[in-house]
Amino acid sequence: MIDKTYINKVLKAAQNPTMEEIQMIMDKARKRLKLNHVEVAMLLNAHRPDQLREIYDIAGTLKEEIYGSRVVIFAPLYISDFCVNNCKYCGYRRDNKFDRRKLTQEEIKRQAITLEKLGHKRLALEVGEHPVETPIDYVVESIKTIYDNSSIRRINVNIAATTVEEYKQLHEVGIGTYILFQETYDPDAYADQHPKSRKGDYDYHLHAFDRAFEAGIDDVGGGVLFGLADWKFEVMGLVLHNEYLEEKYGVGFHTISVPRLKKADGMRLSDYPHMINDEQFKRLVTVLRLAVPYVGLILSTRENKEMREELIQHGVSQISAGSKTEVGGYHDEIEEIEEHDQFELADERSVLEVNKDLIRRGLIPSYCTACYRKGRTGDRFMRLAKGGTIGLICEPNALMTLTEYVMDYGDEDLIEHGLKFIFHHAETIKHQTVKDKLKNNIYRIIKGERDLYF
Ligand code: SAM
Ligand code: SF4
Repeated sequence: MIDKTYINKVLKAAQNPTMEEIQMIMDKARKRLKLNHVEVAMLLNAHRPDQLREIYDIAGTLKEEIYGSRVVIFAPLYISDFCVNNCKYCGYRRDNKFDRRKLTQEEIKRQAITLEKLGHKRLALEVGEHPVETPIDYVVESIKTIYDNSSIRRINVNIAATTVEEYKQLHEVGIGTYILFQETYDPDAYADQHPKSRKGDYDYHLHAFDRAFEAGIDDVGGGVLFGLADWKFEVMGLVLHNEYLEEKYGVGFHTISVPRLKKADGMRLSDYPHMINDEQFKRLVTVLRLAVPYVGLILSTRENKEMREELIQHGVSQISAGSKTEVGGYHDEIEEIEEHDQFELADERSVLEVNKDLIRRGLIPSYCTACYRKGRTGDRFMRLAKGGTIGLICEPNALMTLTEYVMDYGDEDLIEHGLKFIFHHAETIKHQTVKDKLKNNIYRIIKGERDLYF
Protein backbone atom coordinates (compact mmCIF):
# COMPACT_ATOMS: atom_id res chain seq x y z
CA MET A 1 0.00 0.00 0.00
CA ILE A 2 2.78 2.43 0.90
CA ASP A 3 5.93 2.15 -1.21
CA LYS A 4 8.46 4.83 -0.32
CA THR A 5 10.29 4.56 -3.65
CA TYR A 6 7.02 4.87 -5.57
CA ILE A 7 5.87 7.96 -3.61
CA ASN A 8 9.26 9.63 -4.09
CA LYS A 9 9.08 8.87 -7.82
CA VAL A 10 5.60 10.44 -8.02
CA LEU A 11 6.77 13.52 -6.11
CA LYS A 12 9.76 13.85 -8.44
CA ALA A 13 7.63 13.49 -11.58
CA ALA A 14 5.36 16.23 -10.22
CA GLN A 15 8.08 18.81 -9.64
CA ASN A 16 7.72 22.15 -11.44
CA PRO A 17 4.25 21.68 -12.91
CA THR A 18 3.34 24.09 -15.71
CA MET A 19 0.58 26.64 -15.37
CA GLU A 20 -1.50 24.68 -17.90
CA GLU A 21 -1.07 21.42 -16.02
CA ILE A 22 -2.27 22.98 -12.75
CA GLN A 23 -5.19 24.59 -14.56
CA MET A 24 -6.23 21.25 -16.07
CA ILE A 25 -6.03 19.51 -12.65
CA MET A 26 -8.07 22.26 -11.00
CA ASP A 27 -10.76 21.95 -13.67
CA LYS A 28 -10.92 18.22 -13.00
CA ALA A 29 -11.15 18.73 -9.25
CA ARG A 30 -13.91 21.30 -9.62
CA LYS A 31 -15.98 18.57 -11.35
CA ARG A 32 -15.12 16.20 -8.46
CA LEU A 33 -13.29 13.85 -10.81
CA LYS A 34 -10.75 11.57 -9.20
CA LEU A 35 -7.21 12.94 -9.41
CA ASN A 36 -4.35 10.55 -10.11
CA HIS A 37 -1.26 10.43 -7.87
CA VAL A 38 0.90 12.70 -10.02
CA GLU A 39 -1.92 15.23 -10.22
CA VAL A 40 -2.28 15.39 -6.44
CA ALA A 41 1.49 15.79 -6.11
CA MET A 42 1.47 18.57 -8.73
CA LEU A 43 -1.13 20.50 -6.73
CA LEU A 44 1.17 20.21 -3.71
CA ASN A 45 3.89 21.82 -5.85
CA ALA A 46 1.75 24.66 -7.24
CA HIS A 47 3.37 27.98 -6.34
CA ARG A 48 1.86 30.84 -8.38
CA PRO A 49 -0.17 32.99 -5.95
CA ASP A 50 -3.18 33.21 -8.32
CA GLN A 51 -3.27 29.43 -8.68
CA LEU A 52 -2.93 28.89 -4.94
CA ARG A 53 -5.85 31.26 -4.48
CA GLU A 54 -7.85 29.22 -6.97
CA ILE A 55 -7.05 25.96 -5.17
CA TYR A 56 -8.34 27.55 -1.92
CA ASP A 57 -11.48 28.69 -3.70
CA ILE A 58 -12.21 25.27 -5.20
CA ALA A 59 -11.67 23.66 -1.79
CA GLY A 60 -14.16 26.16 -0.33
CA THR A 61 -16.70 25.44 -3.07
CA LEU A 62 -16.41 21.66 -2.66
CA LYS A 63 -16.78 22.03 1.10
CA GLU A 64 -19.91 24.13 0.64
CA GLU A 65 -21.40 21.79 -2.01
CA ILE A 66 -20.80 18.60 -0.03
CA TYR A 67 -21.19 19.78 3.58
CA GLY A 68 -23.19 23.00 3.26
CA SER A 69 -22.52 25.44 6.09
CA ARG A 70 -22.29 22.74 8.73
CA VAL A 71 -19.36 22.29 11.08
CA VAL A 72 -19.45 19.22 13.31
CA ILE A 73 -18.42 19.90 16.93
CA PHE A 74 -16.84 17.37 19.30
CA ALA A 75 -14.58 17.15 22.36
CA PRO A 76 -11.69 14.82 23.16
CA LEU A 77 -11.83 12.97 26.49
CA TYR A 78 -8.56 11.63 27.91
CA ILE A 79 -9.20 8.85 30.41
CA SER A 80 -5.68 7.51 31.00
CA ASP A 81 -2.10 8.67 30.43
CA PHE A 82 -0.47 5.32 31.26
CA CYS A 83 1.53 4.30 28.22
CA VAL A 84 3.99 1.53 27.41
CA ASN A 85 5.13 3.28 24.23
CA ASN A 86 7.88 5.80 23.87
CA CYS A 87 6.78 8.00 20.97
CA LYS A 88 9.46 10.69 21.01
CA TYR A 89 7.00 13.51 20.34
CA CYS A 90 4.42 12.73 23.02
CA GLY A 91 4.14 14.08 26.57
CA TYR A 92 2.74 10.71 27.69
CA ARG A 93 5.75 8.70 26.49
CA ARG A 94 7.08 6.01 28.80
CA ASP A 95 10.36 7.85 29.57
CA ASN A 96 8.59 10.94 30.92
CA LYS A 97 8.37 10.64 34.68
CA PHE A 98 5.21 12.00 36.32
CA ASP A 99 2.35 10.66 38.38
CA ARG A 100 0.17 8.90 35.86
CA ARG A 101 -3.59 8.65 36.21
CA LYS A 102 -6.43 6.62 34.90
CA LEU A 103 -9.99 7.59 35.68
CA THR A 104 -12.32 5.38 37.67
CA GLN A 105 -15.76 4.66 36.20
CA GLU A 106 -17.21 7.16 38.67
CA GLU A 107 -14.77 9.84 37.46
CA ILE A 108 -15.54 9.02 33.83
CA LYS A 109 -19.24 9.42 34.57
CA ARG A 110 -18.54 12.90 36.08
CA GLN A 111 -16.42 13.90 33.06
CA ALA A 112 -19.22 12.83 30.71
CA ILE A 113 -21.77 14.83 32.70
CA THR A 114 -19.51 17.91 32.65
CA LEU A 115 -19.08 17.54 28.87
CA GLU A 116 -22.82 17.15 28.52
CA LYS A 117 -23.29 20.41 30.45
CA LEU A 118 -21.07 22.10 27.87
CA GLY A 119 -23.51 20.89 25.22
CA HIS A 120 -21.39 18.12 23.71
CA LYS A 121 -22.99 15.09 22.07
CA ARG A 122 -19.89 13.60 20.41
CA LEU A 123 -16.64 12.59 22.06
CA ALA A 124 -13.31 11.32 20.88
CA LEU A 125 -12.11 8.95 23.60
CA GLU A 126 -8.31 9.12 23.98
CA VAL A 127 -6.31 6.47 25.80
CA GLY A 128 -2.59 5.73 26.12
CA GLU A 129 -1.61 2.12 25.45
CA HIS A 130 -1.18 -0.04 28.54
CA PRO A 131 -2.34 -3.66 28.47
CA VAL A 132 -2.22 -3.95 32.27
CA GLU A 133 -3.57 -0.58 33.45
CA THR A 134 -6.05 -0.02 30.62
CA PRO A 135 -6.85 -3.33 28.89
CA ILE A 136 -9.65 -3.41 26.30
CA ASP A 137 -12.20 -4.35 29.00
CA TYR A 138 -11.48 -1.03 30.74
CA VAL A 139 -12.00 0.86 27.49
CA VAL A 140 -15.25 -0.98 26.75
CA GLU A 141 -16.54 -0.44 30.28
CA SER A 142 -15.69 3.27 30.04
CA ILE A 143 -17.66 3.58 26.78
CA LYS A 144 -20.67 1.91 28.41
CA THR A 145 -20.38 4.23 31.42
CA ILE A 146 -20.52 7.29 29.17
CA TYR A 147 -23.44 6.05 27.04
CA ASP A 148 -25.41 4.94 30.12
CA ASN A 149 -24.93 8.06 32.22
CA SER A 150 -25.04 11.02 29.86
CA SER A 151 -26.67 12.33 26.72
CA ILE A 152 -23.45 11.78 24.77
CA ARG A 153 -24.70 10.01 21.64
CA ARG A 154 -21.56 9.11 19.74
CA ILE A 155 -18.16 8.05 21.03
CA ASN A 156 -15.33 7.93 18.51
CA VAL A 157 -12.39 5.98 19.83
CA ASN A 158 -8.68 6.71 19.44
CA ILE A 159 -6.76 3.80 20.93
CA ALA A 160 -3.60 2.04 19.87
CA ALA A 161 -3.58 -0.50 17.04
CA THR A 162 -4.88 -3.82 18.30
CA THR A 163 -6.18 -7.27 17.38
CA VAL A 164 -9.33 -8.35 15.49
CA GLU A 165 -10.73 -9.76 18.74
CA GLU A 166 -10.37 -6.44 20.55
CA TYR A 167 -11.80 -4.48 17.61
CA LYS A 168 -14.80 -6.82 17.75
CA GLN A 169 -15.37 -5.75 21.36
CA LEU A 170 -15.26 -2.08 20.32
CA HIS A 171 -17.68 -2.79 17.49
CA GLU A 172 -20.10 -4.57 19.80
CA VAL A 173 -20.24 -1.74 22.34
CA GLY A 174 -21.24 0.65 19.54
CA ILE A 175 -18.40 3.05 18.84
CA GLY A 176 -18.68 5.77 16.22
CA THR A 177 -15.45 6.13 14.23
CA TYR A 178 -12.34 4.13 15.09
CA ILE A 179 -9.56 6.70 14.79
CA LEU A 180 -5.88 5.91 14.48
CA PHE A 181 -3.20 8.24 13.18
CA GLN A 182 -0.41 6.67 11.17
CA GLU A 183 1.74 9.52 12.63
CA THR A 184 4.07 9.26 9.62
CA TYR A 185 3.83 7.19 6.45
CA ASP A 186 7.61 7.37 6.03
CA PRO A 187 8.85 4.01 7.41
CA ASP A 188 12.28 5.40 8.33
CA ALA A 189 10.90 8.39 10.24
CA TYR A 190 8.38 6.03 11.85
CA ALA A 191 11.13 3.72 13.11
CA ASP A 192 13.12 6.68 14.44
CA GLN A 193 10.14 8.20 16.32
CA HIS A 194 8.89 4.94 17.87
CA PRO A 195 11.94 3.26 19.38
CA LYS A 196 11.70 -0.07 21.19
CA SER A 197 7.95 -0.24 21.68
CA ARG A 198 4.78 -2.05 20.67
CA LYS A 199 3.85 0.90 18.51
CA GLY A 200 7.21 0.62 16.73
CA ASP A 201 5.93 -2.04 14.30
CA TYR A 202 5.13 0.07 11.19
CA ASP A 203 3.30 -2.67 9.30
CA TYR A 204 1.16 -3.74 12.26
CA HIS A 205 0.16 -0.10 12.78
CA LEU A 206 -0.46 0.50 9.07
CA HIS A 207 -2.75 -2.54 8.79
CA ALA A 208 -4.78 -1.77 11.92
CA PHE A 209 -7.78 -0.71 9.79
CA ASP A 210 -7.70 -4.03 7.93
CA ARG A 211 -8.15 -5.77 11.26
CA ALA A 212 -10.87 -3.26 12.25
CA PHE A 213 -12.78 -3.99 9.02
CA GLU A 214 -12.37 -7.72 9.62
CA ALA A 215 -13.96 -7.18 13.03
CA GLY A 216 -17.00 -5.48 11.47
CA ILE A 217 -16.05 -1.82 12.01
CA ASP A 218 -16.82 0.07 8.80
CA ASP A 219 -16.15 3.61 9.96
CA VAL A 220 -12.49 4.54 10.34
CA GLY A 221 -10.51 7.77 10.57
CA GLY A 222 -6.86 8.23 9.63
CA GLY A 223 -4.36 10.99 10.22
CA VAL A 224 -0.78 12.15 10.14
CA LEU A 225 1.17 14.04 12.77
CA PHE A 226 2.59 16.74 10.50
CA GLY A 227 6.17 17.67 11.36
CA LEU A 228 7.68 14.17 11.61
CA ALA A 229 8.56 13.81 7.90
CA ASP A 230 8.18 15.59 4.55
CA TRP A 231 4.60 16.93 4.40
CA LYS A 232 4.15 16.21 0.70
CA PHE A 233 5.14 12.59 1.27
CA GLU A 234 2.59 12.38 4.10
CA VAL A 235 -0.26 13.74 1.96
CA MET A 236 0.52 11.13 -0.69
CA GLY A 237 0.55 8.49 2.07
CA LEU A 238 -2.94 9.53 3.19
CA VAL A 239 -4.25 9.48 -0.37
CA LEU A 240 -2.77 6.03 -1.07
CA HIS A 241 -4.02 4.59 2.22
CA ASN A 242 -7.52 5.91 1.50
CA GLU A 243 -7.43 4.45 -2.00
CA TYR A 244 -6.29 1.08 -0.65
CA LEU A 245 -9.22 0.95 1.80
CA GLU A 246 -11.70 2.02 -0.89
CA GLU A 247 -10.50 -0.67 -3.26
CA LYS A 248 -10.35 -3.42 -0.67
CA TYR A 249 -13.42 -2.64 1.49
CA GLY A 250 -15.55 -0.40 -0.74
CA VAL A 251 -15.16 2.49 1.72
CA GLY A 252 -12.20 4.67 2.61
CA PHE A 253 -11.57 7.02 5.52
CA HIS A 254 -14.65 8.63 7.02
CA THR A 255 -12.36 11.31 8.42
CA ILE A 256 -8.77 12.46 8.17
CA SER A 257 -7.14 14.40 11.02
CA VAL A 258 -4.28 16.77 10.31
CA PRO A 259 -2.60 17.51 13.66
CA ARG A 260 0.59 19.57 13.55
CA LEU A 261 3.31 18.70 16.03
CA LYS A 262 3.18 20.86 19.19
CA LYS A 263 5.60 21.36 22.06
CA ALA A 264 5.25 18.64 24.69
CA ASP A 265 7.20 17.60 27.81
CA GLY A 266 10.40 15.73 27.03
CA MET A 267 10.82 16.91 23.42
CA ARG A 268 12.15 19.98 21.59
CA LEU A 269 10.50 21.26 18.44
CA SER A 270 13.97 22.26 17.20
CA ASP A 271 14.71 18.52 16.80
CA TYR A 272 12.07 18.37 14.04
CA PRO A 273 13.34 19.78 10.73
CA HIS A 274 10.10 18.87 8.94
CA MET A 275 7.87 21.27 10.91
CA ILE A 276 5.55 23.01 8.47
CA ASN A 277 4.61 26.67 8.29
CA ASP A 278 1.09 28.08 8.02
CA GLU A 279 1.19 28.43 4.24
CA GLN A 280 2.23 24.81 3.75
CA PHE A 281 -0.43 23.73 6.24
CA LYS A 282 -3.20 25.58 4.40
CA ARG A 283 -2.01 24.10 1.13
CA LEU A 284 -2.08 20.53 2.39
CA VAL A 285 -5.60 20.90 3.84
CA THR A 286 -6.99 22.44 0.65
CA VAL A 287 -5.25 19.90 -1.59
CA LEU A 288 -6.67 17.08 0.56
CA ARG A 289 -10.16 18.53 0.07
CA LEU A 290 -9.60 18.34 -3.72
CA ALA A 291 -8.01 14.88 -3.60
CA VAL A 292 -10.56 13.22 -1.28
CA PRO A 293 -13.63 15.46 -1.51
CA TYR A 294 -15.98 13.22 0.47
CA VAL A 295 -13.73 12.60 3.47
CA GLY A 296 -14.42 14.68 6.60
CA LEU A 297 -11.41 16.80 7.57
CA ILE A 298 -10.84 17.34 11.30
CA LEU A 299 -9.00 20.26 12.88
CA SER A 300 -8.26 20.25 16.60
CA THR A 301 -7.49 23.00 19.10
CA ARG A 302 -3.78 22.48 18.34
CA GLU A 303 -4.52 25.22 15.78
CA ASN A 304 -5.45 28.78 16.78
CA LYS A 305 -8.76 30.53 16.21
CA GLU A 306 -7.63 32.35 13.05
CA MET A 307 -6.32 29.22 11.35
CA ARG A 308 -9.43 27.25 12.29
CA GLU A 309 -11.77 29.94 11.02
CA GLU A 310 -9.91 30.25 7.75
CA LEU A 311 -9.72 26.53 7.09
CA ILE A 312 -13.37 25.93 7.95
CA GLN A 313 -14.08 28.08 4.88
CA HIS A 314 -11.67 26.03 2.76
CA GLY A 315 -12.23 22.39 3.52
CA VAL A 316 -12.37 21.50 7.22
CA SER A 317 -15.69 19.95 8.29
CA GLN A 318 -15.20 18.94 11.95
CA ILE A 319 -13.58 20.76 14.87
CA SER A 320 -13.07 20.08 18.55
CA ALA A 321 -14.09 22.82 20.97
CA GLY A 322 -13.37 23.65 24.61
CA SER A 323 -10.81 20.81 24.61
CA LYS A 324 -8.65 19.59 27.47
CA THR A 325 -5.81 17.19 26.77
CA GLU A 326 -5.05 16.08 30.29
CA VAL A 327 -6.69 13.15 31.99
CA GLY A 328 -9.89 14.23 33.74
CA GLY A 329 -9.44 17.77 32.40
CA TYR A 330 -13.07 18.86 32.46
CA HIS A 331 -13.87 20.37 35.86
CA ASP A 332 -17.13 21.82 37.11
CA GLU A 333 -15.32 24.20 39.37
CA ILE A 334 -11.65 25.16 39.75
CA GLU A 335 -9.88 22.27 41.42
CA GLU A 336 -6.31 22.31 42.66
CA ILE A 337 -4.70 19.57 40.63
CA GLU A 338 -1.41 19.32 38.85
CA GLU A 339 -2.04 19.03 35.14
CA HIS A 340 -0.08 17.00 32.60
CA ASP A 341 -1.18 17.93 29.12
CA GLN A 342 -0.31 15.65 26.26
CA PHE A 343 0.73 18.74 24.27
CA GLU A 344 0.04 22.50 24.23
CA LEU A 345 -3.22 23.94 22.88
CA ALA A 346 -3.67 27.05 20.72
CA ASP A 347 -7.41 27.69 20.84
CA GLU A 348 -8.67 28.01 24.41
CA ARG A 349 -12.10 29.49 23.63
CA SER A 350 -15.08 27.97 25.43
CA VAL A 351 -17.57 25.87 23.48
CA LEU A 352 -20.11 28.69 23.76
CA GLU A 353 -17.66 31.21 22.30
CA VAL A 354 -16.73 28.86 19.44
CA ASN A 355 -20.40 28.35 18.60
CA LYS A 356 -21.19 32.06 18.72
CA ASP A 357 -18.22 32.83 16.48
CA LEU A 358 -19.32 30.18 13.95
CA ILE A 359 -22.86 31.53 13.87
CA ARG A 360 -21.57 35.09 13.40
CA ARG A 361 -19.76 33.81 10.32
CA GLY A 362 -22.91 32.18 8.95
CA LEU A 363 -21.85 28.62 9.83
CA ILE A 364 -24.00 25.98 11.55
CA PRO A 365 -22.39 24.23 14.53
CA SER A 366 -23.73 20.68 14.27
CA TYR A 367 -24.23 18.19 17.08
CA CYS A 368 -25.87 15.68 14.80
CA THR A 369 -25.23 11.97 15.35
CA ALA A 370 -28.16 10.71 13.29
CA CYS A 371 -26.28 8.88 10.53
CA TYR A 372 -24.51 6.67 12.98
CA ARG A 373 -27.70 5.92 14.90
CA LYS A 374 -29.67 5.27 11.71
CA GLY A 375 -26.98 2.90 10.42
CA ARG A 376 -25.91 5.30 7.66
CA THR A 377 -22.24 4.36 7.97
CA GLY A 378 -19.55 2.87 5.76
CA ASP A 379 -20.42 2.49 2.09
CA ARG A 380 -24.10 3.45 2.76
CA PHE A 381 -22.95 6.85 4.04
CA MET A 382 -20.53 7.29 1.13
CA ARG A 383 -23.22 6.48 -1.46
CA LEU A 384 -25.48 9.12 0.09
CA ALA A 385 -22.67 11.67 0.33
CA LYS A 386 -21.67 11.15 -3.29
CA GLY A 387 -25.28 11.37 -4.44
CA GLY A 388 -25.71 14.73 -2.66
CA THR A 389 -28.68 13.41 -0.62
CA ILE A 390 -26.79 13.92 2.60
CA GLY A 391 -27.31 17.69 2.25
CA LEU A 392 -31.07 17.21 2.51
CA ILE A 393 -30.74 15.16 5.66
CA CYS A 394 -27.70 16.70 7.33
CA GLU A 395 -28.52 20.39 7.17
CA PRO A 396 -31.97 19.93 8.80
CA ASN A 397 -30.45 17.60 11.41
CA ALA A 398 -27.71 20.14 12.13
CA LEU A 399 -30.30 22.88 12.61
CA MET A 400 -32.35 20.70 14.97
CA THR A 401 -29.34 19.82 17.13
CA LEU A 402 -28.28 23.47 17.14
CA THR A 403 -31.77 24.40 18.39
CA GLU A 404 -31.30 21.92 21.24
CA TYR A 405 -27.90 23.45 22.00
CA VAL A 406 -29.23 27.01 21.97
CA MET A 407 -32.19 26.16 24.22
CA ASP A 408 -30.25 24.02 26.70
CA TYR A 409 -26.84 25.72 26.89
CA GLY A 410 -27.15 29.15 25.27
CA ASP A 411 -27.09 32.47 27.12
CA GLU A 412 -29.60 35.25 26.40
CA ASP A 413 -27.54 36.58 23.52
CA LEU A 414 -27.31 33.17 21.82
CA ILE A 415 -30.98 32.43 22.32
CA GLU A 416 -31.87 35.69 20.60
CA HIS A 417 -29.41 35.54 17.70
CA GLY A 418 -29.17 31.77 17.43
CA LEU A 419 -32.88 31.21 16.95
CA LYS A 420 -33.08 33.95 14.30
CA PHE A 421 -30.15 32.32 12.51
CA ILE A 422 -31.78 28.87 12.71
CA PHE A 423 -35.10 30.04 11.25
CA HIS A 424 -33.32 32.02 8.57
CA HIS A 425 -31.42 28.87 7.50
CA ALA A 426 -34.53 26.70 7.66
CA GLU A 427 -36.18 29.05 5.13
CA THR A 428 -33.36 28.41 2.65
CA ILE A 429 -34.11 24.64 2.45
CA LYS A 430 -35.44 24.08 -1.04
CA HIS A 431 -37.45 20.88 -0.57
CA GLN A 432 -40.87 22.09 0.70
CA THR A 433 -41.86 18.94 2.65
CA VAL A 434 -38.47 18.80 4.39
CA LYS A 435 -38.68 22.52 5.17
CA ASP A 436 -42.16 22.23 6.72
CA LYS A 437 -41.24 19.21 8.79
CA LEU A 438 -38.03 20.88 9.93
CA LYS A 439 -39.76 24.08 11.03
CA ASN A 440 -42.35 22.06 12.89
CA ASN A 441 -39.58 20.09 14.63
CA ILE A 442 -37.74 23.28 15.59
CA TYR A 443 -40.89 24.52 17.34
CA ARG A 444 -41.27 21.16 19.10
CA ILE A 445 -37.66 21.40 20.35
CA ILE A 446 -38.19 24.97 21.58
CA LYS A 447 -41.21 23.68 23.51
CA GLY A 448 -39.08 20.99 25.17
CA GLU A 449 -38.96 17.85 23.00
CA ARG A 450 -35.48 16.41 22.37
CA ASP A 451 -33.62 14.09 20.03
CA LEU A 452 -35.68 14.65 16.87
CA TYR A 453 -33.86 13.78 13.66
CA PHE A 454 -34.28 12.62 10.06
N1 SAM B 1 -2.29 6.48 22.29
C1 SAM B 1 -3.01 6.32 21.09
C2 SAM B 1 -2.12 6.45 19.90
O1 SAM B 1 -1.01 6.93 20.06
O2 SAM B 1 -2.55 6.07 18.82
C3 SAM B 1 -4.14 7.31 20.89
C4 SAM B 1 -4.23 8.55 21.65
S1 SAM B 1 -2.91 9.72 21.43
C5 SAM B 1 -3.32 10.41 22.96
C6 SAM B 1 -3.54 10.76 20.13
C7 SAM B 1 -2.60 11.43 19.18
O3 SAM B 1 -1.96 12.54 19.78
C8 SAM B 1 -1.45 10.63 18.65
O4 SAM B 1 -1.86 9.76 17.64
C9 SAM B 1 -0.49 11.71 18.16
O5 SAM B 1 -0.60 11.93 16.78
C10 SAM B 1 -0.96 12.97 18.89
N2 SAM B 1 0.16 13.64 19.57
C11 SAM B 1 1.06 13.08 20.38
N3 SAM B 1 2.00 13.99 20.73
C12 SAM B 1 1.69 15.15 20.12
C13 SAM B 1 2.30 16.45 20.06
N4 SAM B 1 3.42 16.72 20.71
N5 SAM B 1 1.73 17.40 19.30
C14 SAM B 1 0.59 17.14 18.63
N6 SAM B 1 -0.04 15.94 18.64
C15 SAM B 1 0.52 14.94 19.37
FE1 SF4 C 1 1.42 6.63 24.09
FE2 SF4 C 1 -0.15 7.46 22.07
FE3 SF4 C 1 1.51 9.18 23.33
FE4 SF4 C 1 2.53 7.29 21.79
S1 SF4 C 1 1.19 8.98 21.11
S2 SF4 C 1 3.27 7.82 23.83
S3 SF4 C 1 1.12 5.60 22.12
S4 SF4 C 1 -0.24 8.14 24.21
